[in-house]
Amino acid sequence: MGVLERLDAAIPLRPEEAMLLESVRALSRDAIAPRAADHDRTADFPRDNIEGINALGLNAMFVPEAYGGTPLSYTAYLAVVREISMACAATGIIWATTFHAMKPVIEFGTAEQKARLLPRIAAGGLAALAITEPDAGSDATGMRTEFRVDDDAIIVNGGKSFITNGDVADLYLVFGKWAGIADQRAAIAALVIERGTQGLEIVRTEDKLGHRASGTAQLAFDGCRVPRANRLAGPGNGLKLLLASLNTSRPSIAAHALGIARAAFDDAVAYVNERRQGGRRIIDNQGIQFMLADMAAELVLAESWLWHVGQLVDGGAQDFAVEASLLKLRASDAAMRIATDAVQLFGGYGYCKDHRVERLFRDAKVTQIWEGTNQIHRQFIGRSFIER
Ligand SMILES: Cc1cc2nc3c(=O)[nH]c(=O)nc-3n(C[C@H](O)[C@H](O)[C@H](O)COP(=O)(O)OP(=O)(O)OC[C@H]3O[C@@H](n4cnc5c(N)ncnc54)[C@H](O)[C@@H]3O)c2cc1C
Repeated sequence: MGVLERLDAAIPLRPEEAMLLESVRALSRDAIAPRAADHDRTADFPRDNIEGINALGLNAMFVPEAYGGTPLSYTAYLAVVREISMACAATGIIWATTFHAMKPVIEFGTAEQKARLLPRIAAGGLAALAITEPDAGSDATGMRTEFRVDDDAIIVNGGKSFITNGDVADLYLVFGKWAGIADQRAAIAALVIERGTQGLEIVRTEDKLGHRASGTAQLAFDGCRVPRANRLAGPGNGLKLLLASLNTSRPSIAAHALGIARAAFDDAVAYVNERRQGGRRIIDNQGIQFMLADMAAELVLAESWLWHVGQLVDGGAQDFAVEASLLKLRASDAAMRIATDAVQLFGGYGYCKDHRVERLFRDAKVTQIWEGTNQIHRQFIGRSFIER
């Protein structure tokens, strides 16, 4: 057993979680991975993969039992995200995004909201998390989408950009600002918009570098009438909910990035063991061994921190924002670096679509951009050391 296999074997999972992960491995290996290049080429939504995921009932692992779920640990959830993302990063982010959008409903929703909304998700529904706007990216508090009360409804006007699953979601968790509140941070609120609600328009989807099979949509809300019962957080609570939801989605984003990193590393190792130049295997050159050593060092340390953060969350930790931020930063930088080095190790072949590393290289880039760019994470982590 190599060091990476030993690390995988030590992931702290209960027996039933380890069994589920085995099923996910089989699905990823036999069905999701073989289709990944095709989905990347066509940019078609990977409905076949989502059907396979739903056949295993994977959404149920993060939905409480009372609402149709069979909850498993957060560590198990992270392991599943990583496994699917290793096979197809686009499918991995589609699945993970449903969790990112629904976790705040699970944590902060009323019993009535959970009873009404969550069974759909447990049964395989898709969700989207809508924060970013054309003029509010790194600074989400600059968002302009407006929520205005009208009798028993909330009228939503505005728009969102870059929304993963925005073209396919059954439920949208949307952040906006409560009308009439001057304080920009206090005005932030959140509500759930259901698919088909009048006034919700999918304006377009982006033509992207990577994650091509995962829809990234621009949304418009034009007098969108949402039942008041769908308000998740009112003014004063929205920002708290936003930050809490990012704390649990950032480790998930890191697990996804580490899936890409692991796939790139595995491919690179296999290739340099096989490829011969000058009468010997590429790996027999010390310079290549040094590259592998650096890639492996980044990978195992980031993976170890992933499981550490998973255990923190499972242990009930409330204050893990810096840990989550360090993880997102390190995992995504590792993914980009390892995917870049993997292309390098493949030489000219790595630059061509016949080899998976070409796609992994393109898929890795966005992990440094979404869920807070890595500059923003560096700022947040650095600031945490300022003595007050
Ligand atoms: C494929 C894809 C999927 C996405 N999915 C979602 C989603 O599902 N939901 C959602 O809400 N959003 C989503 N996003 C949006 C993503 O989170 C934002 O793109 C990201 O937060 C950056 O915002 P921006 O693009 O407006 O860049 P900007 O904020 O304009 O930043 C541009 C550059 O300036 C830097 N910068 C900005 N402010 C500072 C600062 N204070 N200090 C130092 N540098 C700074 C940034 O790091 C970056 O390099 C997605 C984006 C992509 C590309």
